[in-house]
Amino acid sequence: MIPYGHQDINQADIDAVVNVLQSDFLTQGPVVPAFEKAVASYCGAKYAVAVNSATSALHIACLALGVGKGDVVWTTPITFVASANCALYCGAKVDFVDIDPQSYNMSVDRLQEKLEQAEKGGTLPKVVIPVHLCGQPCDMVSLHVLSHRYGFKIIEDASHAIGGRYQNKPIGNCYYSDITVFSFHPVKIITTGEGGMALTNDERLAGRMRLLRSHGITTEVTDMYHRPAEELWNYQQIGLGFNYRMSDIHAALGLSQMKRLDEFVVKRHAIANRYDQMFSDIPVVTPWQHPDGYSSYHLYVIRLKFGKIEKTYRQVYDALRTEGVLVNLHYIPVYRQPYYEKMGFIAGYCLQAETYYSEAISIPIYSGLTDVQQNYVFETIVKLLRG
Ligand SMILES: *Cc1c(COP(=O)(O)O)cnc(C)c1O
Repeated sequence: MIPYGHQDINQADIDAVVNVLQSDFLTQGPVVPAFEKAVASYCGAKYAVAVNSATSALHIACLALGVGKGDVVWTTPITFVASANCALYCGAKVDFVDIDPQSYNMSVDRLQEKLEQAEKGGTLPKVVIPVHLCGQPCDMVSLHVLSHRYGFKIIEDASHAIGGRYQNKPIGNCYYSDITVFSFHPVKIITTGEGGMALTNDERLAGRMRLLRSHGITTEVTDMYHRPAEELWNYQQIGLGFNYRMSDIHAALGLSQMKRLDEFVVKRHAIANRYDQMFSDIPVVTPWQHPDGYSSYHLYVIRLKFGKIEKTYRQVYDALRTEGVLVNLHYIPVYRQPYYEKMGFIAGYCLQAETYYSEAISIPIYSGLTDVQQNYVFETIVKLLRG
């Protein structure tokens, strides 16, 4: 069986975790700050806040930007549900901007149209969450220009995209956004088992996210409320937060994986290039790449051209899985999920997203995929499409 994604763990990764297990601190020790520093410096961002998932990172990023009741957050429909759920956690509303048919990322043109309309109706979003789908960066310069014109904040959901680059600079530098979020789930580019991180260049946002990550508790005397000296202890709760902390065990795996990040992305590119060539005469659309971007290739999505194939999407999907090629669908438009339909969203809400949804299939890509396995994936697809 060949999955669509798989972690790559070596002996150095295992040793790093074992070292923590044999140390004094399993959590709240020195490894989390070391991992944060490694990611921040790799990306060129000033601050990094490690948490127990990207979902938690998105939640505290929204809260740090002041998202609450009465606010609206916009994202793309072609993403994992967490990119939208984070707004609902804060009591805000969510809306979706259709995708660009070539990059599959949020369409800047559709965003601009929707902003013009929202401005007239007084319903502008507080935050927009673009997602670097498959690891391909969004058009951040244009999003940044619109954010100034319409006064919204930007959280980059870069869960797919650590190790990728935009205009030859690492994704995560937050040049064109307020906060960038990474995921370290095992299917992503590097892993901590479960884990995430929020990066920012804004000291205040970093401080708020650190508080929110750990119950709203501070250990900094300068942040504490004034009290008589005999009532000042080693910590104070000054807000309402969560336990979203990452453990040192997880961070040790992440820190060790950071050393291998570039190698992982290079491997993914080699696999993608090989697929590009293999599929050049087959009725499928391979991923288009914007010249400004260097994708981390978290996913390799092909689009089936059903005008030229005598099968349905379901038949292709099921047959591939039966043959041991564990393809996946990234993603069902978020608003088509029953929970979102109950809020009033209807099928057909975003036309390009729906077309994409009816054709897109993620085929295996991960650093450990061998040429033999890749050939098998390709041959199985060709056999199916022809047969
Ligand atoms: C994986 C993923 C998330 C959530 O990541 P977790 O670390 O599993 O919480 C959020 N957004 C996108 C786009 C993802 O792919």
